Amino acid sequence: MSEKIIHLLDIRTATRAAALVPEQPIPATGRLLDTRDRAVRDLRISVTDRCNFRCIYCMPKSVFDKDYPYLARSELLSFEEIERIARLFVAHGVNKLRITGGEPLLRKDIEKLIERLARLPVELTLTTNGALLPQKSRALRDAGLSRVTVSLDAIDDATFRAMNDVDFPVARVLEGIDAAHAAGLTPLKINMVVKRGTNDHAIVPMARHFRGSDHIVRFIEFMDVGSSNGWKMDEVLPSSDVIARIHAEMPLEPIGPNYPGEVAQRWRYADGSGEVGVISSVTQAFCSSCTRARLSTEGKIFTCLFATEGHDLRVLLREGRSDEEIASAIGAIWQARGDRYSEIRTADTAAARKIEMSYIGG
Ligand code: SAM
Ligand code: SF4
Ligand code: SF4
Repeated sequence: MSEKIIHLLDIRTATRAAALVPEQPIPATGRLLDTRDRAVRDLRISVTDRCNFRCIYCMPKSVFDKDYPYLARSELLSFEEIERIARLFVAHGVNKLRITGGEPLLRKDIEKLIERLARLPVELTLTTNGALLPQKSRALRDAGLSRVTVSLDAIDDATFRAMNDVDFPVARVLEGIDAAHAAGLTPLKINMVVKRGTNDHAIVPMARHFRGSDHIVRFIEFMDVGSSNGWKMDEVLPSSDVIARIHAEMPLEPIGPNYPGEVAQRWRYADGSGEVGVISSVTQAFCSSCTRARLSTEGKIFTCLFATEGHDLRVLLREGRSDEEIASAIGAIWQARGDRYSEIRTADTAAARKIEMSYIGG
C-alpha cells in the first residue's frame, strides 16, 4: 500500500473518537455563527466516494486504481442518517443542500434520498458529471430535486476524453444536459475546471457553444484540493484571464451577485445573449463569506474544503444520541470554526496532506 494511502486512512480514523457533545447544550436557533461571524447556510452532502470518471485534477488514475481503499458499504451513512443530520443543520440555519460525491448518481436509489430531503424547507441541488442524467433526470425531478450542476471540462471530444481519462464522449454528457433541461432541472449550471496548458484552449469554444442557451457556464480555477492531483500554481489560469479571452470575442460586462456571498462572479454578454460566471477560489479567495459545511459519505463534518480533519457524527448517530445532543455537537463544531485556507494559501499549505475532493464532495 502506498504511503499516500496509509496517510489517507490515518486521516479517516484519527478523529473517530473525538469528544463532540459539549457539556452545555447549544440549541438550534437558526443562527449559528463561527469565530469569524459566518453563519452556516449551505450543507454539501457526499453520498459516495466512487466515480465512473477519473478526471485528472480530481481522481488521477495513478492513485485511484483498483487498490484504492474506497469506503465499505457498512461505513456509508444510510439515507435515514443523512436526512437526520440534514434536518439538524436546517434547524441551525442551513437553507441550501447540495448532493455531491464522487459521482452521486452512482449511489443506489439516490432518488429516494432526494425524496426525503425535498421535504425540508431548503433549495435542493445536485452536482454530477452528467453521464447518468439521460436515465435519471425524470426520476430526480419527480423526487423533488430543484436543479443540477453538470461538470464539463471541454466541448471538443478529444479534450474532454483526456480530462475525464476514461474516454467518455462529450456527446453523452450533452445528452444528459438536454435530459435534465427537458425534465425541468433548471436553470442548469455547467462547471468547467480550467487547467492551464491542458484545457484552457477550450474556454472560448465552451462559452460560444452555450451562449444563447438557458444554461450558465462557470469557469473554476484549478484548486489544490486533496494531495494527489499534482497541483501547481502555474497551472492555475486566473479568472481575469478567462474573462479577457471570452471578452475579446464576445464582449462581456459585470453584473451583481444574485445574493450576498455568491461564490461565482457573474458577467453577461453585452448583446443580451446570456451570462457566464467565474469562481476564483485561488486568485480571489472568498473565505470571509464562506457559509459552507460538508458532510462526508461516512458521516464526518468538514468545515473547509481544505481541511485535514473532520468531526465524526456517525459515531453519535450509531451510539443512539438524541437530536439535542447531535445538534449541540454541530453547534460546537461550527462555533469553533476559524477556517480561511484560501486566504492564507502558501506553497507549504498546498503541499500538506488534505482530504480528497472525491471523498469530501466538491
Ligand atoms: N462527480 C460530480 C461532478 O464531477 O460534478 C460531483 C463531484 S466533483 C468532486 C464536484 C466538482 O468539483 C466538479 O465540478 C469538479 O469539476 C470540481 N473539482 C474537482 N476537483 C477539482 C479541483 N482540483 N479544482 C477545482 N475544481 C475541482
Ligand atoms: Fe468524478 Fe466528479 Fe471527480 Fe470527475 S470531478 S473524477 S466526475 S468526482
Ligand atoms: Fe470556505 Fe475553506 Fe474555501 Fe475558504 S478555503 S472559501 S473557508 S471552503
